[in-house]
Amino acid sequence: MDPWIPKATVILATIVMIAIRAPHGQRSRGVRVVTSRKGPLENSLLVLASLGFCLPLVWVATPWLASADYPSSPIAFGAGVALLAGGLWLFHRSHADLGTNWSITLELRENHSLVSQGVYGRVRHPMYLALLLHSLGQALVLPNWIAGPAYLVTFGLLFALRVGPEERMMREQFGPDYAVYAERTKRLVPGVW
Ligand code: SAH
Repeated sequence: MDPWIPKATVILATIVMIAIRAPHGQRSRGVRVVTSRKGPLENSLLVLASLGFCLPLVWVATPWLASADYPSSPIAFGAGVALLAGGLWLFHRSHADLGTNWSITLELRENHSLVSQGVYGRVRHPMYLALLLHSLGQALVLPNWIAGPAYLVTFGLLFALRVGPEERMMREQFGPDYAVYAERTKRLVPGVW
């Protein structure tokens, strides 16, 4: 496969992701943060995930990671594109449903409301699921042992260490409403977990 095909796919998926987030991010940042649980661990995880997000772009733009390249397979590429598309769709839906309650970290905003409708009616962390699908898609599309799985590994770690504290924060803020919500939804995969 022409190496520009995976490169163009990674660039396009990254642009679409940034374009989906930009307007929502801007709107949310206009609403004051009233509670922040951003400690040193969360800060380190955010830096690590940002590095994992940028490594694929380093692979696209430079020859620095070329020693870890491997031949692409059309089957892995096709599966990766499907995961990227599904992940981006869910990323768009979860931003639309979460509205100005979105934060890049563990924060609650002024007049924060508990969203339990739309994709949040199916699972409690649709945006994290979207990012996991996207990062898995990237790992399949990008034929490089370092840049391919970089975001999957770093975001996977952020997810694993953040999901508990985030749910604790939500439980403390919304009490029985969150307990009822958590009772009727799974974290990531409907009906499974
Ligand atoms: N974990 C969610 C949201 C990610 S954005 C998801 O994967 O879809 C992170 C912020 O969203 C958290 O800091 C919290 O303030 C907020 N949040 C998480 N779940 C929420 C919900 N059900 N309703 C409203 N805000 C929520």
